[in-house]
Amino acid sequence: MEENERVAQISRERSSLRNENNSGRPDDEEVRQCWVCFATEEDDPNTDWVQPCSCRGTTKWVHQTCIQRWVDEKQKGNSTGKVSCPQCNTEYLILFPKMGSLVMILDAANNLIYRVCPFVAAAVVVGSVYWSAVTFGAVTVMQVMGFKEGMDIMEQADPFVLLIALPSVPVLLILGKMVRWEDGVLQFLRRNTKKIPILRQILPSFYSPEEENETAVARGINIDQPPLSDPVSATRVLCSALVLPTAATIMGNLFFESVNSNLGRTLLGGIAFIAIKGALKIYHKQQLFTRLTQRHILDYTEDNAALIRIARGSTGQ
Ligand SMILES: [Zn+2]
Ligand SMILES: [Zn+2]
Repeated sequence: MEENERVAQISRERSSLRNENNSGRPDDEEVRQCWVCFATEEDDPNTDWVQPCSCRGTTKWVHQTCIQRWVDEKQKGNSTGKVSCPQCNTEYLILFPKMGSLVMILDAANNLIYRVCPFVAAAVVVGSVYWSAVTFGAVTVMQVMGFKEGMDIMEQADPFVLLIALPSVPVLLILGKMVRWEDGVLQFLRRNTKKIPILRQILPSFYSPEEENETAVARGINIDQPPLSDPVSATRVLCSALVLPTAATIMGNLFFESVNSNLGRTLLGGIAFIAIKGALKIYHKQQLFTRLTQRHILDYTEDNAALIRIARGSTGQ
């Protein structure tokens, strides 16, 4: 940002100087002025001057020290980086002193390391995530199938299949978690509770009068979950996806003890867990919706203030 402003400033300065130039004397008679520090030849007669690009006019001149500073700034520590004139885009001709071959080799090695390291680091991260996923998959298989059965299955399976199947366990759990079926059910209940009398009987809290819905629309009330790009929401999806197998095992052991197969018990436990959690979530969302739509802001009177104090005290807010 700052850099762009600086370039723009330089362009302005240069074009204004060039205009003066057009209406005035020829180039060679001009007093040299450095486009970096704006000092002229008269200000400091003993410095080195250079015309590093194909810009014309007085501003083709710049101090050697000033252009060096400019180049340093552009290169950002990469001393062999290319730098061009911000105005005419001519690449500056930078001549380095001759160095020994050891320096050349070290330079090349340095550049190589600089380029390769990001890829190595990325590979390490991806590899760690992959192996964590494999481990998680294996633990989940043993948890769901039972330790012995799980081990047997994994020992008999083709290792290459395992290397793909095991890490897909957490991936599938996360993808499954991203399906927000509760929202669909909630929408359905909100739309249809009025129309179907039996639903109105069972679920009175989903029956909201017409004006309540209108209030919601008018106030733009939206109590949907935050989008997945929200970091809190993303970590929540991750955690609840990874916890699901454990929760399923616990629920299975609690409520489906009579089922003999480990897998069957855990599946039933999982379905029960998802259903109960979903129902609670839908209920909570609907209650939040009701709380928002039925909210009122009161006149400020002593009585009302006392009323609010009492209400807050009783709900502990
Ligand atoms: Zn200068
Ligand atoms: Zn130039």
